[in-house]
Amino acid sequence: MRGNRKRSSNSAGLTDIHRRLFGAFGPQHWWPGDTQLEIAVGAILTQNTAWSNVEKAIAVLKSHRLLTLERLTPLSPTEIAPLIRSAGFYNIKAARLAAFLGWLKSTGGFAGLRRIPTAELRAQLLACHGIGPETADSILLYALSRPVFVVDTYTRRILSRYGLIVGDEHYDTLRAMFESTLPRSTRLYNEYHALLVRLAKTNCRSQPSCDSCPLA
Ligand code: SF4
Repeated sequence: MRGNRKRSSNSAGLTDIHRRLFGAFGPQHWWPGDTQLEIAVGAILTQNTAWSNVEKAIAVLKSHRLLTLERLTPLSPTEIAPLIRSAGFYNIKAARLAAFLGWLKSTGGFAGLRRIPTAELRAQLLACHGIGPETADSILLYALSRPVFVVDTYTRRILSRYGLIVGDEHYDTLRAMFESTLPRSTRLYNEYHALLVRLAKTNCRSQPSCDSCPLA
């Protein structure tokens, strides 16, 4: 009974947050990327760096016409590293990118992923070198259109300040909270995560600006 009450208050809270943010900011048109590969590459490169740095690295890959599976997969981490230098931690990220591309090739590319159930796909992504839950879920949601909620630092910050969570919950606990209380919808999860990022950048920063916040 108590569990049901908690779930329904979470549901009301999460629905209210989405309604207010969407009303204030409107659609966010995420993820910024033209192809599934570009989105997946962006999700890996954005670890621990600002998106503007990722954009520079992607621009370099595009300028070399390397943002296709056929051209990028054969490259070694040593060859990829200088191309993605602007994304920071470029040697580490080059190794992660190469591991992801190797896995993708082994499954038959993006077309081959369509027949794999989401839970299995998530497990395979998490088994790739250097891919953690947030990156795996970003790829699942934004590149592969699977209904998986992405939890990040901004999600924790906003929801804890709002009073829905403590803030140190396990990643999968928070993901399950969204997925069990909101309708299972790729479109909703896509927009919701993007709206939380937007709020974290406009109002709910380290030093929050609460006066103009849609959640105030
Ligand atoms: S900016 Fe202020 S009112 Fe808005 S979510 Fe953050 S702490 Fe709450």
